[in-house]
Amino acid sequence: MSKHQKDLTIEKLMDKVKTYITDNEELSIIDKAYKYAYEKHFGQKRLTGEDYIIHPLNVAYILTRINADYETISAALLHDVVEDCNVSVEEIESNFGHNIAVLVDGVTKINKLKMSGTTEALINNQRKIIVGLSEDVRVIIIKLADRLNNMQTLFVHSEKKQKVTARETLDILTPIADRLGINSIKQDLEEYCLRYLNPEEYYDIVEKLNATKTQRDNSVAKMIESVSELLSKHDIKHEIFGRSKSIYSIYKKLEKGKRFSEIYDLLALRILVETEQDCYQTLGIIHSKFRPKPKRFKDYIAMPKTNMYQSLHTTVFGIDGQLYEIQIRTYDMDRVAEYGIASHWSYKEKGSVKATMQNEMEQKLQFFRAIMDLKKEQENPEEFVNTVKKEIFQNTIYVFTPLGDVIELPNGSTPIDFAYKVHTNVGDKATGAIVNSNMVPLDYKLKSDDIVKIITSNNSAGPSREWLSFVQTTHAKTKIKAFFNKVNKEENIKKGEDILSKELRKQKISNDDFYDVERFKKLLSELKFNSANELYGNLGSGKILINAVMDTYLKKEVSKEEKILSKAIKGSQKQSSSNSLIDVAGIDDIKINLASCCNPVLGDRIVGYITKGYGVTIHRMVCPNVSNLNERLIEVKWNNFEGKLPTNILVRTSSDNNSLINIISKAANNDIPVRKFNSHHSKEDDAIEMTVLVNNKEQLLKLMNDIKMIPEVTDVERLIK
Ligand code: MN
Repeated sequence: MSKHQKDLTIEKLMDKVKTYITDNEELSIIDKAYKYAYEKHFGQKRLTGEDYIIHPLNVAYILTRINADYETISAALLHDVVEDCNVSVEEIESNFGHNIAVLVDGVTKINKLKMSGTTEALINNQRKIIVGLSEDVRVIIIKLADRLNNMQTLFVHSEKKQKVTARETLDILTPIADRLGINSIKQDLEEYCLRYLNPEEYYDIVEKLNATKTQRDNSVAKMIESVSELLSKHDIKHEIFGRSKSIYSIYKKLEKGKRFSEIYDLLALRILVETEQDCYQTLGIIHSKFRPKPKRFKDYIAMPKTNMYQSLHTTVFGIDGQLYEIQIRTYDMDRVAEYGIASHWSYKEKGSVKATMQNEMEQKLQFFRAIMDLKKEQENPEEFVNTVKKEIFQNTIYVFTPLGDVIELPNGSTPIDFAYKVHTNVGDKATGAIVNSNMVPLDYKLKSDDIVKIITSNNSAGPSREWLSFVQTTHAKTKIKAFFNKVNKEENIKKGEDILSKELRKQKISNDDFYDVERFKKLLSELKFNSANELYGNLGSGKILINAVMDTYLKKEVSKEEKILSKAIKGSQKQSSSNSLIDVAGIDDIKINLASCCNPVLGDRIVGYITKGYGVTIHRMVCPNVSNLNERLIEVKWNNFEGKLPTNILVRTSSDNNSLINIISKAANNDIPVRKFNSHHSKEDDAIEMTVLVNNKEQLLKLMNDIKMIPEVTDVERLIK
């Protein structure tokens, strides 16, 4: 377990960095970041009595363990200057560039969140927000290292604070580290958590391990010698290490009721070889000499764990009759096992490493988003880690493509889920499925190890709506809905075209006049559309009224009366966007924005949408703009507050009378300011779009009711754009 280094220096950090970063420019940026942070933190002390800079140095040092790139190391050195030294993100950006500024900003945002989860739902929310807010996966990696160093120095805090921090780490951060496969940091975090949450058991295990250490070391050394000789005889290049089991994993096994002496992997070896073939050959050689314990063999090479872990595991009776747990893997697999998602840094792949990692994170952390939908009532947060493991390992199946590629799916998935996971086109054109050489229905439930072939046809009319009733993955659902949205879009365009040509006939305007190139271009730009199809589409879906189009085309003069009225309307206060309005379960200090499409007001049923790198946007639950976005939605509640919020309503009136004055006076009677309005006239009716400022939904409904009572008003509705 790694320890806090209180005498860490920049020289020592640089020596470590130089073992894998050689570019002089990159090294000088790290050095510059250090000097900058040193100066800004100068004079600040940590509770440990050390200079503050020792903390960011340690965070950066932890990150060198996973070969973090220079931007991540620099951001780690700078990670507390915005929060603690009144430095702006802009200043970081002008000194260190956009990428480093984004990382520092991200860590600062996450650190500002006050985590106070006591129920599973709250904990879920917090994990979801951390993941959702992180525009760049490196933000999460820095956060993990930051937390590890804070755990390493947790001894200075009160026992209560120690327990709270350890609980939060175990509930929220280690599952994220696990999912990203960053074992080297995860194991240290878990170990510190156990030490503070359960000190008695922790030190009990440490003591027992110490008592048996000499004996274990001797046994392991003998076994290593024996296996090594055997492999050399077969010309397999290898390295063998005695491996100590983490205290936390021993604790978990003891907790499950095993006895200390029963935990065989106390005696454990790890064999590193050069190729995958060597792995299997090594296994065969070992099994031929040492009898394997039945049912203990696992092939994580052919079936990698969800966090990319690959290795062969076996347990054999060793030279002295004792059980040894042996892991066999290549050097590359070993790196992935330790670094997880961060192993991309070491591979120096072509293309953007950042994009690859980001992409992978989206996949790996899908789970945290999806679990929200399970809506499992689980009162006891202590069970959370177990649930996570259960969900990952029991609710996941692995199936194969005919070419042998492994596809990971949630339990209960169907050939359609499989098809969309392979490619959108395969899903959209799927007509049948063959599983292990048998034709199966499309709603067939796949099992692990199934070999799945999807039959596609270019003549397929596309997915069937019925599929939505049986697919399991959000991915497939989203893709199927996207297909129909596209079809709808085409239908709307056609409908819009019809509406327009009917109106042109009615108003006796010729197509040649209307579509005059210059004039039509001008019309589109005035209506803020980029193309004719966009205009038709918006007409067809009802987002713009034909009256508005014709008014703009005919350039109707605004009546004098309207001009006077519009002057009389007071411009009111700016839209407030403070988070005192909204409570995001368990989280303080998160940026809140009220959606401008549906303009929620106090009392509306609302839902939050997590925006990357920003915060949470609040929509009405009925808003179609969020109906397809389950993954990023979270629960929110209104706080009680006093103040007015803007919202839009649409009033239709019969055209003969000008009812504006009546409407405005109704608003005035209700003490509701009108911020602006637009009216569209036509022969049949007038449509008035107005923005009003209301205290709450009740007041709004009363106003709408009052307006409805005006004889010439035919309809009042709330507008969603
Ligand atoms: Mn920090």
